[in-house]
Amino acid sequence: MNFLAAELRDILQGPVLVGEPLRRHTTWRIGGPADIFIAPRNETELLASLRLLARVDVPWLPLGTGSNLLIRDGGFRGAVIHTGALRDSEFLGEGRVRVGGGLPLMRLVRACARKGLAGLEDLAGIPATVGGAVAMNAGAGGQDIAGVLETVSLAGPDGIEICSAARLDLGYRRAALPHGRIVAAALLRFQPADPQWLEQRIQSRLQNRRKAQGVGKPNAGSVFKNPPGEQAWKLIDRAGLRGYAVGNAEVSEKHTNFIVNRGGARASDVLALIAEIQRIVREQTGILLEPEVQVVGDA
Ligand SMILES: Cc1cc2nc3c(=O)[nH]c(=O)nc-3n(C[C@H](O)[C@H](O)[C@H](O)COP(=O)(O)OP(=O)(O)OC[C@H]3O[C@@H](n4cnc5c(N)ncnc54)[C@H](O)[C@@H]3O)c2cc1C
Repeated sequence: MNFLAAELRDILQGPVLVGEPLRRHTTWRIGGPADIFIAPRNETELLASLRLLARVDVPWLPLGTGSNLLIRDGGFRGAVIHTGALRDSEFLGEGRVRVGGGLPLMRLVRACARKGLAGLEDLAGIPATVGGAVAMNAGAGGQDIAGVLETVSLAGPDGIEICSAARLDLGYRRAALPHGRIVAAALLRFQPADPQWLEQRIQSRLQNRRKAQGVGKPNAGSVFKNPPGEQAWKLIDRAGLRGYAVGNAEVSEKHTNFIVNRGGARASDVLALIAEIQRIVREQTGILLEPEVQVVGDA
């Protein structure tokens, strides 16, 4: 890996780290080390890295804010590619905006509100990057990324491919991104609205979030998807699991679809707690809760 790190340093101005603890890069504050951790400064650096990694047959994992990721305690064998520097954005007129995959979603939401562009204001407060939000088809209230996405620029070893939103088959918290491709940028289309109304809407969404989700400890938002016609938090609550813990991973007292890290929780604690919740809820209701969080890495 040191040889690969040296080659990456030749082509990247951004950081190239060996053995970087991934708990530093997830909202759960959990995750073992990455063999290699890089943060390309721009699309050119991203493409050069992907070409090199493909040539030496090293797998990679795109990482945004790490707000929907459970990285196992053994870490990631390969290269973690942090997208945070890919932030270019451009307002193109007629409601269209081109944004970098690493742009914080909240920055986009606020910038759109100032310009009187509606479509993502209900997502205010989701701690995502644009790329992570596309990969998960993030949503809240009645809105989601699918409602505004026109195309994505997908980076791979062979360059950039423009892919229509229709081809991503976006659904409830899922997108069919082609394997090994990274959302380098997205083209979004918004509807006109009053900037003042949008700002008020954002403030009220943020306030609601603080009330319902201010759990005070590291977490990754909702752990399970809502089954059709049901709400995961209610099923977990009715099963009597509020405050239930394995090691230092605990079902939040405040929001039962959140698992919080009480301090020093391991991925294995969270995985054991997820399995317990699934088992108990299934025994009581016959429903198998499907995790929304993405689990990656080695045990
Ligand atoms: C407090 C809190 C509240 C939340 N509320 C909501 C909510 O209301 N609605 C909601 O939908 N989600 C919510 N989430 C979950 C999370 O914020 C979203 O899933 C978000 O879209 C993840 O974005 P990210 O940049 O953190 O992605 P990461 O967690 O870094 O990555 C998630 C997945 O996307 C992939 N990925 C990341 N970037 C890219 C890229 N550029 N190209 C290709 N793949 C990529 C990763 O490999 C991984 O598989 C919440 C999370 C928290 C902590």
